[in-house]
Amino acid sequence: MKVNNIDFDTYLKNYPDKDGFFGSYGGAYVSDELKKAMDEITEAYFTICKSSKFISELRRIRREFQGRPTPISHLERLSAKLGNVQLYAKREDLNHTGAHKLNHCMGEALLAKYMGKKKVIAETGAGQHGVALATAAAYFGLECDIYMGSVDIKKQAPNVARMKILGANVVEVTHGLATLKEAVDAAFEAYTKEYKDSIYCIGSVLGPHPFPMMVRDFQSVVGIEAREQFLSMTGELPDAVVACVGGGSNSMGMFSGFLNDPVEIYGVEPLGRGPKLGDHAASLKYGTEGIMHGFNSIMLKDENGEPAPVYSVASGLDYPSSGPEHAFLRDAGRVKYDVIDDEETIEAFFTLSRLEGIIPAIESAHAVAYGMKLAKEMGRGSILINLSGRGDKDMDYIIEKYGIR
Ligand SMILES: *Cc1c(COP(=O)(O)O)cnc(C)c1O
Repeated sequence: MKVNNIDFDTYLKNYPDKDGFFGSYGGAYVSDELKKAMDEITEAYFTICKSSKFISELRRIRREFQGRPTPISHLERLSAKLGNVQLYAKREDLNHTGAHKLNHCMGEALLAKYMGKKKVIAETGAGQHGVALATAAAYFGLECDIYMGSVDIKKQAPNVARMKILGANVVEVTHGLATLKEAVDAAFEAYTKEYKDSIYCIGSVLGPHPFPMMVRDFQSVVGIEAREQFLSMTGELPDAVVACVGGGSNSMGMFSGFLNDPVEIYGVEPLGRGPKLGDHAASLKYGTEGIMHGFNSIMLKDENGEPAPVYSVASGLDYPSSGPEHAFLRDAGRVKYDVIDDEETIEAFFTLSRLEGIIPAIESAHAVAYGMKLAKEMGRGSILINLSGRGDKDMDYIIEKYGIR
């Protein structure tokens, strides 16, 4: 299939190019020292990760430890309530640790092991990536340093406890605002010194090349499974596929399975409290091109051109940019990006729980809300929603802020 002169038959093989570019987006804008480390990972990725030994070991781990394949559930009562469109959910909430993040963490940690590294390093904001990586590190017997701002450490006590129970070393970052941005800087600084024995594990399709490509490839298991499952359940492909976009990993995993099909693809960004800068994290809708954290993409900037403060009710979606591949697919017209605000999200959170017995993560509830809206617009057909994670982690927040509806 060709869209705007991009051949989607061979897309996944040709994008990104060898320097990590999707059109003008992506790349590796890092110091010479870090570039060396990134080149080492790229080379290992192409030799190790494409070997049958690595692939079969990862497949076995996905089956025996992660609980894959995750099923697709037909959301019958929700569909009936909305009209004639049939809604389906890919159940990434049933992955071990409760979300899709383990898909790339297990891949990254297995790569670390094959490369002979002793340690994995990462930053975390809300703690979800930290917990997933700490899980993977424990599984492979690797050391694990997670950098986290002291403000986030206070807010996310249960995730900090989980990481520690799993054997990770949580490194407190106290300078600046002591949140995610400072944690990223501190983790990169540590990695620059330690890269001979360690590997940096990015938590989404972000950062310098090869991470956007590698994380997409590790997450593509979602789209590959979903396509096969949907075909065998219904004999057809879905008319539309929907996923929420923070950094963009669960969505890229899902979308990669359907890019070459006659399927409408929708990425959903958080509109938060509204379209004013600072009230949302809808970078693809309101942002402009720029470089941060080692890659070129679309981002939300303040008046000084620095990454702007962002907000979303879902802590996993409040990042001022999105992966370079999303920026590329947006410009190419292959994926449509739209927004859902906090209120629509919370409504969908309660509706899905009540009608289907599935409590979604607040991030995933953005995709559910959009699927519900789209169902009313379409009037007929089928929609597959990627349910990126479960809502257990959000219980305290929901009860405190919204009560029980
Ligand atoms: C982290 C997270 C997200 C957002 O990350 P992406 O890289 O955009 O997928 C979405 N859903 C859940 C449940 C998460 O934990």
